[in-house]
Amino acid sequence: MTRLAELVLRRARERTGPGTMDATATDRQRWQPRWLRPTVAGLWCEPGRFYIDPTRPVDRAVITHGHADHARPGHRSTLATAETAAIMRARYGDDAGPVESLGYNVPLSLGDVVVRLVPAGHILGSAQVAIEYRGCRVVVSGDYKRRPDPTCAGFEVVPCDVFITEATFGLPVFRHPPDSHEVERLLQSLRLFPERCHLVGAYALGKCQRLIMLLRRAGYDRTIWLHGALVNLCNVYARAGVQLGPIGTVSGGARRALAGEIVLCPPSALADRWARAFPDPVTAMASGWMGIRQRVRQRGVELPLVISDHADWDELTATLDDVGAPGVLVTHGREEALVHYAASRGYRASALSVAGFEDEDD
Ligand SMILES: [Zn+2]
Ligand SMILES: [Zn+2]
Repeated sequence: MTRLAELVLRRARERTGPGTMDATATDRQRWQPRWLRPTVAGLWCEPGRFYIDPTRPVDRAVITHGHADHARPGHRSTLATAETAAIMRARYGDDAGPVESLGYNVPLSLGDVVVRLVPAGHILGSAQVAIEYRGCRVVVSGDYKRRPDPTCAGFEVVPCDVFITEATFGLPVFRHPPDSHEVERLLQSLRLFPERCHLVGAYALGKCQRLIMLLRRAGYDRTIWLHGALVNLCNVYARAGVQLGPIGTVSGGARRALAGEIVLCPPSALADRWARAFPDPVTAMASGWMGIRQRVRQRGVELPLVISDHADWDELTATLDDVGAPGVLVTHGREEALVHYAASRGYRASALSVAGFEDEDD
């Protein structure tokens, strides 16, 4: 534990008094499920004999969603939603291995536990994993957000005994603006600079398709142009019934003709030679990290759009209260502040470190 976390926990203890949170290691053992624990390969559910989002090849994996740090190829068997299975096949081909799909909210017995996949609202097919074992229900949130997303089913609250929450944006400084506001800024720039191409960096899985749908909802019905690397996953979304409207692929010589158009590309392509052939481009990027000035500068982004597929601070804290689990484990990001918040609200809370995840998928 870092010194900051220690300090934060000590302060919280002083405020809440003894016995109301995990003051000692023994107490911690009492409320934390021993049957679900972090290992070098990932979060291991012993009575179910499976790992959740394992970082190494395992016999049985349960995958929350298709982002590369969660859905890795090479497991002997994988369980995921049908949409996540389609994403994995599109990305990995045969290397995805056998992927068994499970619909949302369909209970399935695995070993001695019952598993259910529940919408997480993060990207197409994303799921929380609800696990029941001997009268105890643990929900592993995976990545999630609470605001509506036209490309995926919304987050569902599942009452449980222990809620394991992500905390990618787990600091009070992270407050994402409404996505409609950010999309309007893009359209406004397009009206102001009709002779400039608007080149928008967006992650290939999730952000790209959500941005397209947000533009459609804002009334933008022109062709939206895609860097070749974004086409494959847009096809997966289209096959899943997400109607993206007119889409074109940018090919070599045509770039000069794209003045006044919107072109989406992977964030890495913004700094590429590829980006330079466009007519006087406005460089934009859609990411939760665009709320941080330093990251905007690093990327050389002229028009930062704060559009995140992760819960911001208000969504994280509201979710703890909505779920109302007496035990909260915080993982995958900035744990200390959320642990502190949870403890101050009377929950038993602790950080849970599971290695191998990046915060860049937003
Ligand atoms: Zn993700
Ligand atoms: Zn993630």
